[in-house]
Amino acid sequence: NLGLSSGVKKVPQAAKRSNFGRMQVEMIAKSRDERRQRQADEKALKEQILHMEHNNPNWEFAQMISEFRAGLDLRPLREGDPLVENQITVCVRKRPLNDKEGRRREVDVISVPTKNQLIVHEPKQKVDLTKYLENQHFRFDYVFDEACDNELVYKFTAKPLVKTIFEGGMATCFAYGQTGSGKTHTMGGEFKARQFSLFRKVLINLAEIKDKYFTGGNKRFSIANSINIETISKNYLVKMESKWPKTFFKLLSHPKYARNNYVVSASFFEIYGKLVFDLLAKKQRLRVLEDGKQQVQVVGLTERVVTKVENVFELIQKGSLERTSGQTSANSNSSRSHAVFQIILRKNGSRQVDGKFSLIDLAGNERGADNGKSNRQTRIEGADINKSLLALKECIRALGRRGAHLPFRGSKLTQVLRDSFIGEKSKTCMIALISPGNFSVDHSLNTLRYADRVKELIANDNLDD
Ligand code: ADP
Ligand code: MG
Repeated sequence: NLGLSSGVKKVPQAAKRSNFGRMQVEMIAKSRDERRQRQADEKALKEQILHMEHNNPNWEFAQMISEFRAGLDLRPLREGDPLVENQITVCVRKRPLNDKEGRRREVDVISVPTKNQLIVHEPKQKVDLTKYLENQHFRFDYVFDEACDNELVYKFTAKPLVKTIFEGGMATCFAYGQTGSGKTHTMGGEFKARQFSLFRKVLINLAEIKDKYFTGGNKRFSIANSINIETISKNYLVKMESKWPKTFFKLLSHPKYARNNYVVSASFFEIYGKLVFDLLAKKQRLRVLEDGKQQVQVVGLTERVVTKVENVFELIQKGSLERTSGQTSANSNSSRSHAVFQIILRKNGSRQVDGKFSLIDLAGNERGADNGKSNRQTRIEGADINKSLLALKECIRALGRRGAHLPFRGSKLTQVLRDSFIGEKSKTCMIALISPGNFSVDHSLNTLRYADRVKELIANDNLDD
């Protein structure tokens, strides 16, 4: 209507239209240029990546593994999956690739297709240099992939064990695997000393600021005034720690168990070769004695009474720092010793142990392997670790075969844990930890074969669904 009724108006309208048209053309051209540039950038980047990847010696393996995975129907373990009740639970946890492995362009050679299956893609080469994968399948009670966090792992492993000790049983949870695979991370004994001290520094700064500016009881700054280093440190530790002490104290105060009037105490020690050290008493050396009734006792081991969650965290923290302190020389290292944290239940006034919960952060299993290059000291250490891990496997198997001979004298570790391997009510959980990178494939296979044998002889125990 506008365009037809008046010639006067027609001109600016046409001008407008042509202006608009020019703008449109310009915009189209501009966006086309931008798109071309973007495409060129993307292409360059792709080529760069491709070039990099082709230079990566693992590229072909990475391709083969990703093709293999594309054919898998992935249904990994998740929050709502059912728990299986076993006397002996054996599971595997795969951690994510870390920065170091990423920088070395390692390939993730572990696939976790379902809640209880795991595949190792072992990179191999034929004589004619053709690369291929040897895919090895394993099955356990549970397999935790890299997306599972500590809380989920806890739910399926340690949590079901906590109840056991209120019902007259011994509960034991082991972390087994190569150094760096995530044992300490999984057991909740990880106190990153650096991180912790950094955090303390921040708090101390805060406290200084508080003293400087907020003194004189000024009510407006009551929040700042309530900053208390110890409280915040504790909360921080509680946050980063594992969940079992909470479950434990919840059960302890449950009416069903509260009437037993339990006295709860905790101990924390370390086994290095044939030696035992008290982690709650400045690494004092302790003797292990066995009486005529095969009762084993660690003489003089510190036992601290604990009445709340915080007490437990404090002891774990204290012992963990003790364990890793003074480890500057290559010769002393927490990966060479087994750490045992125990919670002991006794009825009020009684000496007799009613229940015991043990968490064991085992020595790195690669230490047991003979790599030929090591010195005498390292070889002796390796032999000791190897021996104790083999003895452990035999003892867990004996627990599974009721009434079987228990070879607990095979090592210091199994000797001090003797009572964990007897009784129908006793339960054990072994968490095998593996690093996902191709550099670790031999160690991972060793770990998986060990875990496999721990459970091998136990018939129809949920291994066939
Ligand atoms: P180990 O005790 O077996 O020698 P750590 O528990 O100390 O190994 O783990 C080595 C490093 O890897 C630590 O920095 C830890 O925080 C990290 N890590 C281990 N497992 C995981 C995981 N599942 N997710 C994220 N980081 C992990
Ligand atoms: Mg560790």
